Amino acid sequence: MATSKQQRKAANSPRGINRWELFTCARRGHVTYAPDDAALAERLSGTTGLGEVWRCLRCGEFVIGPPHGRGPADHAPLILRGSALRQAIIVRALAVERWVRALLIALAAWAVWQFRGARGSIQAAVERDLPLLRASGIRVDQMTAVHELEKALATKPSTLMLVFVALLVYALLELIEGVGLWLLSRWGEYFAVVATSIFLPLEVYDLLVKGVTFTRGGAFVINVAAVIYLLVSKRLFGLRGGREAYDEERRGEQLLDVERCALA
Ligand SMILES: [Zn+2]
Repeated sequence: MATSKQQRKAANSPRGINRWELFTCARRGHVTYAPDDAALAERLSGTTGLGEVWRCLRCGEFVIGPPHGRGPADHAPLILRGSALRQAIIVRALAVERWVRALLIALAAWAVWQFRGARGSIQAAVERDLPLLRASGIRVDQMTAVHELEKALATKPSTLMLVFVALLVYALLELIEGVGLWLLSRWGEYFAVVATSIFLPLEVYDLLVKGVTFTRGGAFVINVAAVIYLLVSKRLFGLRGGREAYDEERRGEQLLDVERCALA
């Protein structure tokens, strides 16, 4: 097997330098494994005054105690490390961001639904109170909020229903995106890229017509960055060698493979 660039990099980097691995091990514990191959096992283990030690498959540190598992080297657990681990943490942060979005959109949908139900009584209140307010000298007709309210009241119930359904579908989309990303699945990455890209033109239109605000601009920047990040780092749609190169990169990062290469 040819030594890939990642394997050389991993083999040359001093132990314990990667904080992502150490952070994950601190949270979830080390993972040790004794491969059946004696020569390989020797490279991963040692004996100290405190007993046997095994190298963690994630962070590479020596851990005191018997291995957590043993068997053929090919059956060793696949461990997220190196760039895969960094990507997983970023993608999961993005998943949480999608869930927050889903929640906010669902709340908006709920508000539209409530408004739709209460429309009649709000209309009655406006018709009753607006003339009173006008008579009292308050310049209600110049207030933006009043204009917005009158505009909303003038909206047809069927249109409100449509808005409600659209918001609900949008919230569901964001929810599914979040789940797919959190599971670190290939379909989740494709789903997120396609679903996010579909709405980008709409976001551009929004920015052009309604102007740039912090939330609108921020959401747009996050979405564009997410699409580019997923496309490039996950090598989607055959980019940078596609799935094959992606899997090769993952294999190259496994400690057992790195050590096996060092042995050969
Ligand atoms: Zn560890």
